[in-house]
Amino acid sequence: MNLLLAQLAELCRTERTRAKWVIVPTHSLGHTLGERLALDGGGWSNLRFTTPLDLALPMAAPFLVERGIDPAPDGIGPALIMRLLLELPSTVPGYFRGLAEQPQMAEALWATIGALRMAGITAAALPREAFASASKHAELRALLESYEQHLAIRRLSDRAQVYAEALLHLDVCLIQPADLRIELPTIIWTPLERRLLDALPGSRVIPRAPALPRLDVPRRMAGLASPMEAVAPAPASSAERLALLMSPPGSAASDTTLTMFCAGGREAEIEEVFRRIAAAGLALDQVEIACPMPEQAALVWEKAQRHAWPVTIGPGIPTALTRPGRALLAFCEWVAGGLPASRLRRMLQSGDLRLEADGLTAGQAARILARAQATWGRQTYAAALGRLIESSRARADDPEQTDDARARHRQRAEQAEKFSRWTGELLALVPADATAPLGDWLDAAHAFVKSFARKTSELDGEATVALTEALADLRPVGDLSRPASDALALIRGRVDGLTVGGDRARPGHLHVTTLADAGHAGRPRTFVVALEEGGVFPALVEDPVLLDAERAAIHPALRTSEDRASEALYRIVSQLGSLGGHVCLSYSSRDLRQARVTSPSWLLLQAVRVLEPAESWTYDRLVKELGEPVSAVPAAPGQALSDAGWWLANLRGTDASALPPVRESFPALAQGEAAERARDADDFTNYDGLVPEAGPLLDPRVSGAAVSPTSLESLARCPFAYFLQRGLGLDPMDDAEPDPDMWLDPLTRGSMLHGLYATIMREIRSRKETPDPARHGPRLRALGEEALAAHRALVPPPSEGVFEREARELQNDLTLFLRFEAEDHRERQPIGFEVAFGGATEGEALGRREPITLDLGPELRFKLRGRMDRIDRLADGAYEVVDYKTGAAFLPGGLDATFAGGRQLQHALYALAARELLRGTDAQARVVGSYYFPTARGRRERRVRPESTQAEAAAVLRDLLDVLAAGAFVHTPDAEEDCRYCELQHACGRQAAARAKAKIEQADNAALDAYRRLGAHE
Ligand code: SF4
Repeated sequence: MNLLLAQLAELCRTERTRAKWVIVPTHSLGHTLGERLALDGGGWSNLRFTTPLDLALPMAAPFLVERGIDPAPDGIGPALIMRLLLELPSTVPGYFRGLAEQPQMAEALWATIGALRMAGITAAALPREAFASASKHAELRALLESYEQHLAIRRLSDRAQVYAEALLHLDVCLIQPADLRIELPTIIWTPLERRLLDALPGSRVIPRAPALPRLDVPRRMAGLASPMEAVAPAPASSAERLALLMSPPGSAASDTTLTMFCAGGREAEIEEVFRRIAAAGLALDQVEIACPMPEQAALVWEKAQRHAWPVTIGPGIPTALTRPGRALLAFCEWVAGGLPASRLRRMLQSGDLRLEADGLTAGQAARILARAQATWGRQTYAAALGRLIESSRARADDPEQTDDARARHRQRAEQAEKFSRWTGELLALVPADATAPLGDWLDAAHAFVKSFARKTSELDGEATVALTEALADLRPVGDLSRPASDALALIRGRVDGLTVGGDRARPGHLHVTTLADAGHAGRPRTFVVALEEGGVFPALVEDPVLLDAERAAIHPALRTSEDRASEALYRIVSQLGSLGGHVCLSYSSRDLRQARVTSPSWLLLQAVRVLEPAESWTYDRLVKELGEPVSAVPAAPGQALSDAGWWLANLRGTDASALPPVRESFPALAQGEAAERARDADDFTNYDGLVPEAGPLLDPRVSGAAVSPTSLESLARCPFAYFLQRGLGLDPMDDAEPDPDMWLDPLTRGSMLHGLYATIMREIRSRKETPDPARHGPRLRALGEEALAAHRALVPPPSEGVFEREARELQNDLTLFLRFEAEDHRERQPIGFEVAFGGATEGEALGRREPITLDLGPELRFKLRGRMDRIDRLADGAYEVVDYKTGAAFLPGGLDATFAGGRQLQHALYALAARELLRGTDAQARVVGSYYFPTARGRRERRVRPESTQAEAAAVLRDLLDVLAAGAFVHTPDAEEDCRYCELQHACGRQAAARAKAKIEQADNAALDAYRRLGAHE
């Protein structure tokens, strides 16, 4: 039993009837000590575990309340300090104000104000001479003064005021003069706590604590901790010798109660700890795991969840790891990022959101959002989902669809309607005004956590309460008006520092605690993990607000960076020395996240010196001694905690001959291996895109379905991509986040320009005028502004600057277009714009609703549909079908190619189609196809393909459709040309183009004959 517990047991025996007050820093520690005392067999009576605040509050509160003063909530601090700092009069010199809107700055200032207050320092007493900078002193003093006034005006009292008031009413203290009181030794209280503890009635009992040879007692302990009786350690085991860490004894250790190991990563280290617990057959409540830093406990918690081991976590779990915490952080990021649909989709996929809509799962909602092609901004959701609902309803009513398809579309429309309502409610939470007061953002965050964040466990429930309270703490500064990004950063800041589920050691549970609190539960087996150099003791970094020299000059009780390091060292060594039982120390030799090698802590080196003092130890020798780092894979199958561990342990050190049982047990892996082997070989197989059954279904000559020139060109570009999209109906996910430098993507810009070209040219045609920049320029400009405004209403630009730049460029391209048209009008007369065949004709005389049937020779008859950008009648009586290109002067395969292996077909197919459409007015029409680049980037390039290419097109089309007929959906062999902008790369597998090249070059692959011929059409 440790010294203090033995002392308490003794007090309970000798002072049975007297009240004995044990003053502890936290209630959970009090509970733990009481429980341990009872478990260790002594029993106890009249022991009262209490904290200094428990004593101060009943002494101060009645008198404060009598004067109309209420306690101030703790969490308000940083937000209040930010506000007070920003509201300081301009006459006060600025020092921290430039950084006032950084939540970390507010946190740091709040911590400093708290430390000053608990040291009893007022604004008036802040000494000028302690500061090197006059403006820093002036601003900090003004801030402290402003805080004092805030408390006075609002009639609030902070913790410092409670202690100050309690000191005035010692006569009403819960501790009576006849009682005994004892403090936990080595706890460094604040000056105000110290003053109260020293002034309390009752007889003080001096606590006993182990003397720690050759370890300096921290400077502040002399004045702020309880006086104590140091007892020289008398270790009876290797583990107990840790009390002699600073002065290793002369003889070697004689038992195995102190062990060490090294792991190849943090995850492997925790896995090894779990394996050792299981291998030793230990009850979980016999074990404690201690981590140097509180945040490291979360990994143990995650591992325990995975193995379903009951666990209590002393420092708690960061709220950000719970569903409501994660969801709130994601919500803040979504709003701050401009409400991008891609992020909302990921939030839905995470499973952290709750959908109230009946019969609609989060996964379905995510798919609906992807299908709707929403982009970002508030308006995009209703518009995109509205379009999806409309098109799904139209398909549900389409008599040409099968019954199944119509039912599917009807269900899709209903689901989209539900989801649209849900997004409407979600968006209604987000304040429309970006400079809304903080209170509005708090309302949004609160309502989001309450109604939209999913809760699936008790911990999630606790997190909801903690988040609600944390947000409520900020209410008193709700009228603070900051930009949305600051308000959201403030809310995120509250979530970041919040933990939930902190608990003391409980029966039946593994317990995880910090190294500074290790051993209080008295468990016989302790694992101390994460003992890496630089990760155990605090770094010697000065406070960002008050430097060490300033702290020392203001008040000796203020902690400096050196104090922080020496106090941590003292605390850790004293906790290690009190552990007893079996202790296992470990570290990870690699930081896998940062991909760097890590060294053992100095503490491990000292520990090995304690074990074997006669040896001469260096870090290198220690690392050698600890041997091969353990990995997540157990050394032997019997030690495995999971199926995966068992398999991997069995396979360790084996060769390929060990694979048959793996393949037998995991047929999907065997199948994957077979597929990869086939892809690596030269034969063209089902694993490479050979799907003969799909041939007749997709070949328009057989199926009778109408195809467009664009889809045929995409088939030529990459048959595999064609199969994924048009055969399997797969669409790549649009994961694009808003680009801060781009608003209009090339597709949107292109279709906007196409629409505007058609509108102005139709207007000019209807008035029987010729293009004239002076007459038509203002109108085209106005049309451009209208189109930009309409798109802006749906998709907000990332910034006003980007909008202005892109609007200017678009208007410039419109001006150029009109100028070029004016210059060209003598050579060509447009007779049709956006001429559709196989779709709505928009009143164009040459258009037709039905597709055209092209009959290009034996077994080359199929339906073609499409939309020609324009048809011009040329001065020589011939016709030119013009295809606008609104980007740079570029065509697949090059500007001078004719067919580029089928990648350029439009010119020939549209010329053939135009001849059909013109047949009624000009039976002998001569038609050519062209590509025209009328923008600044396109430099007015025009590429006309001669009429003779149309005859050659039949051979190209025959080969192309034969690729379809063979079901030979091979990957393109030209990654450089075709894959660069392909969004299906994730579905493509490794080295797809290189593998395809080898298969195409293999003449035995008869299914690829047509594809090889296709490539020859230049
Ligand atoms: S990445 Fe290349 S090979 Fe893969 S589907 Fe796209 S174009 Fe085809």
